[in-house]
Amino acid sequence: MSRDVHIIGGGLAGLAAAMQVIDAGDCPIIHETRRKLGGRATSFDDPRSNTTLDNCQHVLMGCCTNLQDLYQRLGVLESIDWHDTLYWLGEDGTIDVMKPGLLPAPLHQFGSLRRMRLLDADSKSQIRRACWKLLRLGNAGRMHWQFNTFGDWLDQMEQTHHTRALFWEPIITSACNLPCDRVAAVHAMQVLQEAFLPSVFAGSMGLPSIPLRDLYDPAGSIIKNAGGRIELGTSVRSISFDDQQVRGIVTNNGPLEASSVISTLPPDRLAKLIPQRWKERDCRLGALDQFEFSPILGVHLLIDASVIEYPHLVLPGRGIQWLFNKGCNEHGQQHLHAVVSAADAWMDLDEDAIVERVLDDISAAAPEMSQRTIIHARAVKEKRATFAATSEIEPLRPQAGPSSIGIEGGDAQGLYLAGDWCSTGWPATMEGAVRSGYLAARALTGQGGLVDELPSGRLARWLSGP
Ligand SMILES: Cc1cc2nc3c(=O)[nH]c(=O)nc-3n(C[C@H](O)[C@H](O)[C@H](O)COP(=O)(O)OP(=O)(O)OC[C@H]3O[C@@H](n4cnc5c(N)ncnc54)[C@H](O)[C@@H]3O)c2cc1C
Repeated sequence: MSRDVHIIGGGLAGLAAAMQVIDAGDCPIIHETRRKLGGRATSFDDPRSNTTLDNCQHVLMGCCTNLQDLYQRLGVLESIDWHDTLYWLGEDGTIDVMKPGLLPAPLHQFGSLRRMRLLDADSKSQIRRACWKLLRLGNAGRMHWQFNTFGDWLDQMEQTHHTRALFWEPIITSACNLPCDRVAAVHAMQVLQEAFLPSVFAGSMGLPSIPLRDLYDPAGSIIKNAGGRIELGTSVRSISFDDQQVRGIVTNNGPLEASSVISTLPPDRLAKLIPQRWKERDCRLGALDQFEFSPILGVHLLIDASVIEYPHLVLPGRGIQWLFNKGCNEHGQQHLHAVVSAADAWMDLDEDAIVERVLDDISAAAPEMSQRTIIHARAVKEKRATFAATSEIEPLRPQAGPSSIGIEGGDAQGLYLAGDWCSTGWPATMEGAVRSGYLAARALTGQGGLVDELPSGRLARWLSGP
């Protein structure tokens, strides 16, 4: 007999959970408050430019195997373009090219690092030493740093302010959405150990070639064919329980009986749906109000002509960290997209002030910018873009499934938790969200689970020791 599994939220965690619920022979019913799928990784119709814009450029890496698995299931993996070359803007406007060389991983970037004009010889040897330490540390070794920030580790590795600002910050702040002095060391180390050291493909950058929203189009028919459905525009207002177990959900369309519920809501949203006594009783729900958030700013610009020839730029030591070239329209006007992670300092600025600062940074790469006209500008502030992945919050991230041990007989049976903030071992990313969805479906159905990680290259395995 197949069960109805009610999934609250149609972001990546919800879609991932739905796919594995289907594999197990059950029927997913997604309740999504908005009229579109994708949650924080989606697109909107922009009336100013009359185009579809992503809320923000979303980047994945080769090591995001679960996200790629989801795209594969949706039949959209072909819509991801892979880039193995990164372009770094120097202080004097020169561009350093980071491209894998002929040496095998983890030495594949060493040639590019040696040629980088942005960094002096001392900085490069500091970075090499730190990378070597990271490699030797391995996954188990990073747990020794579970109570520290990545900044603490950089201190111990004697990385200077210069090396931090020009090398570590651009990588870590954009990957973890927190600066080095705040982010849990384990997350920053994981990004470096899993993306940049084990193999060439692990560090490749994937960019969707279609609007994010379109990636989820196939989900509707997959879910329908499996006997499930997606209820857009349906807001869940509360979850109801008896003494042991979930009994139902109340939506804006009325109450529904439900004995299997997967919540994929962010912690602050979930907290609003749960009665106080269950927050006190269920060990997974006690810390919902302790999660803090970190903002991201995305700025779309349509310029009257092409000013940037590179597909993207990393802008170390500047206000914006990444600039993406989204191509030219039929009039030769170029769409640029600037991204600022951990954007606290930008949140109180109005759009004009934001655009002015962004243009300043772009001018460092394209001096002719001052002669160009901005046709449209659109700044998208996401104040609660991701939870703040600090070392303090890490132990409070909940497991997917209920435990029967605990106060008054344990956690709420039938309630499963997913979302990028749950315990996945990853910071708040699309990969983390998909992992959480797969883990929740696994906990509920006893089937499926995570897909394999990318294997490390032979030399990387040998150098990283036992
Ligand atoms: C600006 C920005 C840039 C980012 N860049 C990257 C990047 O480059 N790479 C990367 O890997 N990650 C990036 N992320 C993070 C990534 O988008 C998230 O980690 C991921 O999308 C979270 O998915 P989720 O399903 O856990 O949560 P969400 O996407 O938040 O999904 C939750 C869903 O629940 C719905 N909902 C809320 N309340 C209710 C309710 N009461 N009833 C029903 N539905 C409800 C919401 O509308 C939403 O669709 C970025 C995030 C932002 C905001």
